[in-house]
Amino acid sequence: MNLHEYQGKEILNSFGVEIQRGIVATTPKEAVEAAKKLTEETGTGWHVIKAQVHAGGRGKGGGVKLAKNIKEVEDISSNIIGMDLVTPQTSAEGKRVHQVLVAEDVYYPGDSEPEEYYISVLLNRSTGRNMIMYSTEGGMDIETVAEETPHLIFTEEIDPAVGLLGFQARRVAFNLGLSGKAFKEMTKFITALYKAYNESDASLFEINPVLKTSDDKIIAVDAKVSIDDNSLFRHSNYEQMRDKREENPVEVEAKEKGLNYVDLDGNVGCMVNGAGLAMATMDLIKQAGGEPANFLDVGGTADAERVEAAFKLILKDPSVKAILINIFGGIVRCDRVAQGVIDAYKNMGTIHVPIIVRLQGTNADIAKKLIDDSGLDVQSAIEFQEAADKVKAVLS
Ligand code: GDP
Ligand code: MN
Repeated sequence: MNLHEYQGKEILNSFGVEIQRGIVATTPKEAVEAAKKLTEETGTGWHVIKAQVHAGGRGKGGGVKLAKNIKEVEDISSNIIGMDLVTPQTSAEGKRVHQVLVAEDVYYPGDSEPEEYYISVLLNRSTGRNMIMYSTEGGMDIETVAEETPHLIFTEEIDPAVGLLGFQARRVAFNLGLSGKAFKEMTKFITALYKAYNESDASLFEINPVLKTSDDKIIAVDAKVSIDDNSLFRHSNYEQMRDKREENPVEVEAKEKGLNYVDLDGNVGCMVNGAGLAMATMDLIKQAGGEPANFLDVGGTADAERVEAAFKLILKDPSVKAILINIFGGIVRCDRVAQGVIDAYKNMGTIHVPIIVRLQGTNADIAKKLIDDSGLDVQSAIEFQEAADKVKAVLS
């Protein structure tokens, strides 16, 4: 589950990570009140208005702007709230902005120049360890840094059983070229950031930029946070942070119906029971010359109701040119599933794309007969290859 910047910062703050302070607003009026309140609390004269959408690169797209007085806070936030923000990470239509974060300006002048760093904590799947990835080249695309100047990206691997050790936090501060007060602040920052990542069951905390202010404070200016969905049962306060407006609407609906659905770009919709079989089915579709339009695991209980819900989800995608249903009947008997397909089909009236059903396992032969005799425009198959050939035939 991805979070908004302001939510990520709330979590950081709760673990003692220093952040650029801000207040979220959904209208220009609220933004003005937020700005006044921030000035009282922090003494800031200037404010940054930041679009809250699940996409990076907001600055480049015009979604982060500096306001030097209250009038500008009002004008900028009325421009940003309601806009479709296009960034290098969104589609061409962009993302609708429903709210802005009104934040204190932290790039104020002082004894030293402000410096921007990149710091993230994530899981290194190949070593099974957590990893702090960091660079002196903050504030810009880390992908570009990785491509053009990979030697400027450092990593620190952390054994999850031991946790982050003091010398590791100091090495990060050292490699970032810090000394004196900023060095100390950075080791505190890293320690608290790692704790936040670990205890919130996150899969990613990406802070770009981390700012060294002109008076040597280290603070998080941005926050991109992903929480592991499988851990949400023990973080009800984070679960409440889910913003469904930011998620794929079909995927949200699938989740509500208890279906595992991932939207993809292809032309063959698939309905399968079991994640492994679903992966194999997607390979099969590719071999037959198609592209899967989705991943869909209907789970163990493929009854008529679930089959119908799955049909409806698949058919919401206009690029679907064929549907392949591939069910292995183990605990669920194939004839039950076949009846489910037939019932769902009848309930839905006409379906305008060819459907190929492959049922294998317990009562597969009875299931095939049920489908063949149903009089519906559904083709049945028992063997994997047979199903693939039928997909190929309907696509060509
Ligand atoms: P992103 O573009 O989506 O990654 O959004 P960020 O939160 O990283 O903000 C983009 C840029 O806005 C940062 O890299 C900063 O250069 C700038 N910015 C953020 N906060 C402030 C601020 O308080 N004052 C000024 N002057 N610039 C800021
Ligand atoms: Mn950023």
